[in-house]
Amino acid sequence: MIVDLHTHSTASDGGLSPARLVARARDRGVNLLSITDHDTLDAYQQLQEAELGDLQLLPGTELSCQWSGVNIHVLGLGVDLADEPLQQQLAMQAQRRRERAEVIAQRLEKLGIKGVLAGAEKLAEGRAIGRPDFARYMVEAGYVASMNAAFNKYLGSGKAGDVKAVWPALEDVVAWITAAGGVAVMAHPTQYKLTNAKLRRLLDSFKAAGGRGLEVCNGRPPLQELRYLQQLCREYGFEASIGSDFHHPNNWLNVGCDARQVGECEPVWARWVVLAEADVVSDPR
Ligand code: AMP
Ligand code: MN
Ligand code: MN
Ligand code: MN
Repeated sequence: MIVDLHTHSTASDGGLSPARLVARARDRGVNLLSITDHDTLDAYQQLQEAELGDLQLLPGTELSCQWSGVNIHVLGLGVDLADEPLQQQLAMQAQRRRERAEVIAQRLEKLGIKGVLAGAEKLAEGRAIGRPDFARYMVEAGYVASMNAAFNKYLGSGKAGDVKAVWPALEDVVAWITAAGGVAVMAHPTQYKLTNAKLRRLLDSFKAAGGRGLEVCNGRPPLQELRYLQQLCREYGFEASIGSDFHHPNNWLNVGCDARQVGECEPVWARWVVLAEADVVSDPR
């Protein structure tokens, strides 16, 4: 089985429209897909039933929050798209992005980067502004050589453009997801560059808040990292999630992950997959 519970479309910072992302997933034989755009469910408004074919699409989003001064991402999988409180919170997240963009822009202007808010706004084409829009502006205006350089110098963790104070608390986003009938999954646990001890504190807080899942495989991790996260997942009694974190078609990373990458962990998707293996095992009676 091929699943992908972490992908991005043009509804946030991805390069493919939701329909083209779905088409690509179908071409690649994906059985279960979630489009998890940053702080929005808008992708699901842009899809027609017919485009899905036999692909099973699971509503999802990747929520920005903060915990202990760190910008954390939590996936909300299987949420009810019509849940009013969640929709209201997503509207708030968009507002927070606008406020954050102004702060980021002020800081970058001070560092000599001109016209940055207008430039990023133009590139965002009406979507909520993200750091990749600032990065692209800086590349196109010649301030840096690459997106990577923009993050390394200006936007990444600990740099001037890393503004996280606007985001809600980890506990809050977990509560919104759960109240909307979804499952909260800690996204890419190793991307926060935490010490082992601090990562464990994060997972303790996440579990206490009602978090249920751990993304044991994000993209194509080294085997050692996959094993480490599978072990943490079992130790904490989390369910395992896997996803490509696909953004752009020209990158080496594509849509779709081998479901076996959960290893011995309980897969988070067991509750959603229409024909899970457990269902086809014959009843011993
Ligand atoms: P934001 O959601 O506005 O905080 O922006 C974070 C997004 O920036 C991530 O989801 C990535 O898609 C992107 N990003 C982070 N680091 C890099 C990098 N080094 N190069 C390119 N994109 C990055
Ligand atoms: Mn992104
Ligand atoms: Mn993320
Ligand atoms: Mn992501």
